[in-house]
Amino acid sequence: MTGEQAVALATAYFDSGEFRRILARRIALATESQRHEDDAAILLYLEQEIMPPLRALGFELQLFDNPEATNRPFLIAVRIEDPSLPTLLSYGHGDVVFGDDENWRPGLSPWELSEEGDRWYGRGSADNKGQHSINLAALEQVFQARGGKLGFNCKLIFEMGEEISSPGLAAICQQHRELLQADLFIASDGPRLNATQLTLFLGSRGCINFRLSIHARDNAYHSGNWGGLLSNPGTQLANAITSLVNQHGQLQVAALKPAPLDDNLRSILRELSVGGQTGDPEIDENWGEAGLTPSERLYGWNTLEVLAYQTGNPARPMNAIPGNATAVCQLRFVVGTDWQNLVSHIQQHLQLHGFGNVEVEWLHGSPATRLNPQDPLVPWALEILQQTSGKKPALLPNLGGSLPNDVFADTLGLPTLWIPHSYPACGQHGVNEHMLKSIAREGLQIMTRLF
Ligand SMILES: [Zn+2]
Repeated sequence: MTGEQAVALATAYFDSGEFRRILARRIALATESQRHEDDAAILLYLEQEIMPPLRALGFELQLFDNPEATNRPFLIAVRIEDPSLPTLLSYGHGDVVFGDDENWRPGLSPWELSEEGDRWYGRGSADNKGQHSINLAALEQVFQARGGKLGFNCKLIFEMGEEISSPGLAAICQQHRELLQADLFIASDGPRLNATQLTLFLGSRGCINFRLSIHARDNAYHSGNWGGLLSNPGTQLANAITSLVNQHGQLQVAALKPAPLDDNLRSILRELSVGGQTGDPEIDENWGEAGLTPSERLYGWNTLEVLAYQTGNPARPMNAIPGNATAVCQLRFVVGTDWQNLVSHIQQHLQLHGFGNVEVEWLHGSPATRLNPQDPLVPWALEILQQTSGKKPALLPNLGGSLPNDVFADTLGLPTLWIPHSYPACGQHGVNEHMLKSIAREGLQIMTRLF
């Protein structure tokens, strides 16, 4: 059977309504990982929804307790067809964020798939049940088209705690490195660049949150009696921050900047436009790194943001010099940044600029990843996406946001390809989450062709 014929079969399957029926059943399980009220649904999701179809495809299945979170198990599925064939690893998460039932539009429920035009509403429809359901359905289509074979070896890992920052995922992958060994990684999560543009991304930026604080003294003192005599930590911290990031939002800490963008990356980023979709905010002029385009700033550079800032009590200001000031800041960064030494880089920079009294505290951080865009797998995947859809796919070297991709890229050492089946306005993590039927259908076609 040719690739086109397999895609035609997959399309007929989608149009039969069977995919929708299965997705509706999966959405109906309230697999919220952020609370423990419905832990039974978490295990049921794996046992009733994921394991039976994989067993039917001849996968060997193993459930593992989560070493870092109770009732957030992992499923690892392995199907070795022939050790000489290449091995694919894929991933999905069956947990969802809070349903937030009360706040959905009247007539919609997070636990019931409702169809309106091109939209399938339901919690997890986009993040991530809809997306991994497409990939599982594509595996089934290939298995049928090839007469009970996939044509490659396949491994899958499912987690049930992605929405609580993937506890245990790194540990499980470290512990079962052998079991998860593969040649490449392909999975689907997050949004496409926009609803109509197929997207391939190769990793994600990293992210560190850190706290800056000045503790000058235990009490606030009357500004009329002590102003000009006592240092003001609010004023000092504001100035300290402007030494780190200037009035145009440009990072000033040389040791935390990435290497200049190379020509290859620039030519990839030149193809991408950012924003401009309905609901997107207006992009500010004169903001961000000078000499870079918006897409270069978002996907190829590092930004330092002030997330929160407090001195005194803004709700009830007193006529006094506050004793303390604190800010939570964030660095989003691309591969190649010396992020693990952020605290000492910030401390040295502040010291040099006369702010040695600022305390710097690491809160949490995750690494950046990016498969080299010149890896031969990249044009291979792009060509299949284009052939199948007849449209030019967008290539993102990495997401602007973050994903636990370091586990696959670094711990397991795999080339990572992400093909999202959602779009930015899908309502993921908010109310009225939905999947676009048109994207699901196209997603099933391209994944069938790719597999
Ligand atoms: Zn999510």
